[in-house]
Amino acid sequence: MSMDTFGQPGRVTDHGDGLWQIDLGFEEREGVIAAYLLGGDGDLALVETGPSTTLPHLLAGIRAAGFDPADVGQIVVSHIHLDHSGAAGVLLRDHMPRAVVRVHPVGAPHLIEPDKLIASATRLYTDRMDALWGEIAPVPADRVVALEDAMPFEVGGRPLTALFTPGHATHHITLWDPTRSAAFTGDVGGVRMQGTKFNLPPAPPPEVSPEAWAVSAERMLDLGAERLFLTHGGLHDDVREHLAQLVPNLAALKALAKERLLAGDDHDQLTAAIHHWVSAQVGPVEPGVLTNLEWASPSYLASFGLTRLLVKSGEVPDPKAAQG
Ligand SMILES: [Zn+2]
Repeated sequence: MSMDTFGQPGRVTDHGDGLWQIDLGFEEREGVIAAYLLGGDGDLALVETGPSTTLPHLLAGIRAAGFDPADVGQIVVSHIHLDHSGAAGVLLRDHMPRAVVRVHPVGAPHLIEPDKLIASATRLYTDRMDALWGEIAPVPADRVVALEDAMPFEVGGRPLTALFTPGHATHHITLWDPTRSAAFTGDVGGVRMQGTKFNLPPAPPPEVSPEAWAVSAERMLDLGAERLFLTHGGLHDDVREHLAQLVPNLAALKALAKERLLAGDDHDQLTAAIHHWVSAQVGPVEPGVLTNLEWASPSYLASFGLTRLLVKSGEVPDPKAAQG
């Protein structure tokens, strides 16, 4: 275990009304990845699982909230990136014998047969795969439930609705909890650390779409939610101001990447330029906050993702073609 800890890794926050936030202590830090527990009427649901590397914190958090992990009946994941749903297979197999996983229909096959997901993640994370994410076990097909857009289901007698909100990934959902006036926004609602104003739209490869993201931002805004619960950054209640940043901040990031790539930046140089820009947007904060932001939405992933987006749209030449 690293000695370089930040905050209170694994902290459990009771938001009242049967809603708990569990910090997953990713990289022994508080604030990088969260999961949420929804309880009521003897029913229990988990929103996001985090990766398998943070399972001890997740399980301890569920117990600290007063529950037995074995009593979780439903897991809902915003999308299938490993920091959001990587632990789903291990959880079902080892800790949650009754649970099913609700996921966007396009994500479902990748939970059932994670080989392609693992292969593409390995291209990005290379030799750090295991240290970052741990075991990625398949989810049995009969325990996966494909979500339908805007079709309510129940947890503890309360309705929950998944809204299909692409932009960060094509198979991303936002979970809307009207009785708590809460939206669980995964990555499509952005990444924003506590005590800061800046909302960073995470732009990893391969599916970032500013056009789809703009539609999803409107859709999230139209919910009229009073509280947004981010996977990376927790609760923010200045809902309009928060969501209004998504489109302009993504446009600014894209413009920066285009300018730097046309000026001849390579991947590392663009990574540094993105990190510098993000730091400037966040403004003066303690260094741990910026480190958290970088863990939650790494600049090198945005460098890959924005380059891919700009090459695909023909706005910058393909660097691979230039080499070949
Ligand atoms: Zn993601």
